[in-house]
Amino acid sequence: MTKAVIVGGGIIGLASAYFLRKKGFDVVIIDKGEPGSGCSSGNMGWVCPSLSDPVPAPGLVKTSLKWMMKRDSPLYIKPSVVPSLSNWLYHFWKYCSEEAFQKGFEAGLELSKNTLRLFDELEEEGGLEFEMHRKGLLFVFLKEGYIEEKIDSYRIVEKIGLPLPVVKTKREVIEMEPALSDAVEGGIYLPAERHVRPESLTQALTKWLVANGVEVRSQTEVKDLIRQGDQIIAANLGDTTIEGDHFLVTTGAWAGQMLNKVGIKVPMTAGKGYSLTISSPSIQVQQPLYLGDSRVTISPFNGSTRIGGTMELSGLNSDQNQRRIESLRRSVNQYIRNPISGKEKVWSGMRPMTPDGLPVLGAIPSFTNLFVASGHAMSGISMALSTGSVMSDLISNGKSDIDLAPFAPDRFNTKLQND
Ligand SMILES: Cc1cc2nc3c(=O)[nH]c(=O)nc-3n(C[C@H](O)[C@H](O)[C@H](O)COP(=O)(O)OP(=O)(O)OC[C@H]3O[C@@H](n4cnc5c(N)ncnc54)[C@H](O)[C@@H]3O)c2cc1C
Repeated sequence: MTKAVIVGGGIIGLASAYFLRKKGFDVVIIDKGEPGSGCSSGNMGWVCPSLSDPVPAPGLVKTSLKWMMKRDSPLYIKPSVVPSLSNWLYHFWKYCSEEAFQKGFEAGLELSKNTLRLFDELEEEGGLEFEMHRKGLLFVFLKEGYIEEKIDSYRIVEKIGLPLPVVKTKREVIEMEPALSDAVEGGIYLPAERHVRPESLTQALTKWLVANGVEVRSQTEVKDLIRQGDQIIAANLGDTTIEGDHFLVTTGAWAGQMLNKVGIKVPMTAGKGYSLTISSPSIQVQQPLYLGDSRVTISPFNGSTRIGGTMELSGLNSDQNQRRIESLRRSVNQYIRNPISGKEKVWSGMRPMTPDGLPVLGAIPSFTNLFVASGHAMSGISMALSTGSVMSDLISNGKSDIDLAPFAPDRFNTKLQND
């Protein structure tokens, strides 16, 4: 049996392992912590193909410069990391053009076109139970002006057969979501989108993999990839090695570091986000909410509510910034009639971010058996199954029915540095 070694057990590695195993590969997946415990755990769980637009967007240069040094703004760039991130930031800002944004959005939609079908199929898979809700997403705004701007940019979703978002008046949004305060002026409803409890998804996939003969190695750090000519022959674990025929790097925000070890430069940095999970909340919202003016989101789960958001470029570290957590609470209080109280759990995770906002998916050109799938930024849960599916096609027969050119690992200027 052909053996695939997957380095990194986040949602992208787990989904890739699932599809490779279904294709008959002998699979080993290795994580330095527990599978699913990185960025794939405390996130908002939105499965939202319509929101496949890249992070760098027109107008963001001006806004991000304004926000840059403000510790409680939606995007914060830690001044001390600016020198090491200058190349990455320069390219990120270059990708904030209308043209790059439209191209990126189209590529993201193409990758996401099978998302809802793949989630339906996963739900039907025996022995794989996870929490998924089909309630759509409701965007709400304090300023009416944002609504037209936002709805215009989403007309493109029709291209992949998704229903157009619907404008909702102030009265309609409050009817849909009685917890909203009178400060809300209106909204947009995206009916086809869903959300999952991400921890339930990673746990269900891990359980399925183990039950189906995949070797899941947790608390095991891959120190290096051992190269022989144009091939990787093994993953080096320090005291031992794991050999294989194919190697797939799915180490998320750490993917740049891992590939750097074999001389490949992929510009990946961490976009830290925070969430607060409130158990037995005093108020439960009816559907996921996007608080449009402050870019904070709320997800209702069985027995809890999660508030999340913010983007902090502060390098690869797990430090938590109290002010950013406070800003989440403040934002929610602007939109929700009464504070949401209950037992709180604070979490932070590092979104893997490339300068153009698209993941890197594909074979590494100078190797015959090395692949990467990382850099899903805000959409790793949403794009996980489509990513796993295309990576399994690529590894098993060298091609995929989705055009992967926009995601090519070598698309960046080689002068870019890793974080
Ligand atoms: C606040 C917040 C909200 C979000 N909300 C959503 C949402 O609603 N919908 C959505 O689609 N996305 C959302 N995201 C984004 C999503 O969480 C990420 O895109 C996704 O989790 C990335 O998955 P990954 O598998 O690439 O990375 P990770 O989950 O970080 O997995 C990488 C794994 O690699 C392992 N690893 C690293 N180095 C090594 C090594 N040397 N050896 C072995 N293992 C290693 C790590 O331990 C880790 O488990 C959100 C993110 C945040 C922060």
